Amino acid sequence: MGSESLMGSIQALRGTRDILPEEVRYWQWVEAIARQILDRAAYQEIRPPIFERTDLFARGIGEATDIVGKEMYTFNDRATPPRSVTLRPEGTAGVVRALIQNNLYASGGVQRLWYTGPMFRYENPQAGRQRQFHQLGVEVIGSADPRADAEVIAIATDILQTLGLKNLRFDLNSVGNLEDRHQYREALVNYLMPYQDELDKDSQERLTRNPMRILDSKDERTQKITQDAPSILDYLGSDSKRHFEQVQQLLSNLGICYQLNPRLVRGLDYYTHTAFEIISDDLGAQATVCGGGRYDGLVQELGGAPTPAVGWAIGLERLIILLQQIQETPRQGLDFYVVSRGEAAEAQSLKLAQQLRQAGFSVELDLSGSAFKKQFARASRSGAVACLILGEEEAQTQTVQLKWMASKEQSAIAIADLLEKADELRGQIESLK
Ligand code: ATP
Ligand code: MG
Repeated sequence: MGSESLMGSIQALRGTRDILPEEVRYWQWVEAIARQILDRAAYQEIRPPIFERTDLFARGIGEATDIVGKEMYTFNDRATPPRSVTLRPEGTAGVVRALIQNNLYASGGVQRLWYTGPMFRYENPQAGRQRQFHQLGVEVIGSADPRADAEVIAIATDILQTLGLKNLRFDLNSVGNLEDRHQYREALVNYLMPYQDELDKDSQERLTRNPMRILDSKDERTQKITQDAPSILDYLGSDSKRHFEQVQQLLSNLGICYQLNPRLVRGLDYYTHTAFEIISDDLGAQATVCGGGRYDGLVQELGGAPTPAVGWAIGLERLIILLQQIQETPRQGLDFYVVSRGEAAEAQSLKLAQQLRQAGFSVELDLSGSAFKKQFARASRSGAVACLILGEEEAQTQTVQLKWMASKEQSAIAIADLLEKADELRGQIESLK
């Protein structure tokens, strides 16, 4: 501690960042749009804790993944005997644990859940890749119907489109069921074995532990090798084929364009059938905005009754980067800016601001006590629709000057009248916003 204070002020940790008020407006806008779309589709928000027992993620994400293998923030808390806990690196495991623990599926119905919040992975920070980042995700638990797959995809598409995002690609695949994959895995390993020494180091390790993840490798040489690898789509059994065809048919009916990408895989046993990613060409290397798919084996893997499920997660930082490219900062939408000068006027200004706020207006109060001119300049910058001016004379007569910022029209009005005419004023303000 001593050495840090000697070095001056403390900086945020690498891979974390402050989301400052101006940027938060984008976040709130995204959250508002997403919430509205999810509400309309009868999805309910769930808020599991941010840290959990390490075992949950080891089992729920898989020991052989990068996340569990090298990216988790894991530590012993103060319990005796020592107990290993982990900051959640993703949302699904916690949601499924909550579902099982609270017996949410007891009724036998379908649970449509969504969540948002920070996730933690010890990664190499770069644009669109942080150590604390945020996801918005959905999970539909309890339905094997291909309509559930298509519904979650339609909702992701709807959110991104409503926000105005363009240039998005949608990659779709099926990883079949456990049986299909056992056969495919064998064919894949047989194909890759002769190239073993040419694969990147991670992929060499995966050859025995988790060979399907090799298709996901970002190493160029490995990608060249896997280009001609067998396709999972040739290994789907008839049930898996039917499910996949139905999903595609439903997406086409919804007018959702997709391209098949047989290299889009998840290597773990509990991932089944549909896998998809929504990718942007405007994000550079960190291009995937949304990833998801079906995970019919996970609930059982985590100790629950066998229950099919499908979901996705959107990376919010990447989404915000895209929005900033196409959209000016969403406006704050302030109704009134209140300026005042002189003791009596200043005292009244706060009361007036409070009364207007209670009447439903958004009001910013200038606290500076500086010359009117400076306060007016701030009023202009605030983006308020109207300015309320209280000087000594107004304070004495219980009036206020109401100035419309766009037209510069100004008139005196009794404070009592102003409050009485709240509804009329609201209409006027809305028409000017
Ligand atoms: P990537 O291949 O980019 O590492 P991933 O497969 O690890 O992604 P998922 O676990 O599927 O990602 O998470 C869903 C989404 O969350 C990603 O598509 C991405 O938008 C976002 N995301 C994942 N990791 C990070 C991170 N470290 N920083 C910012 N966003 C992230
Ligand atoms: Mg990753």
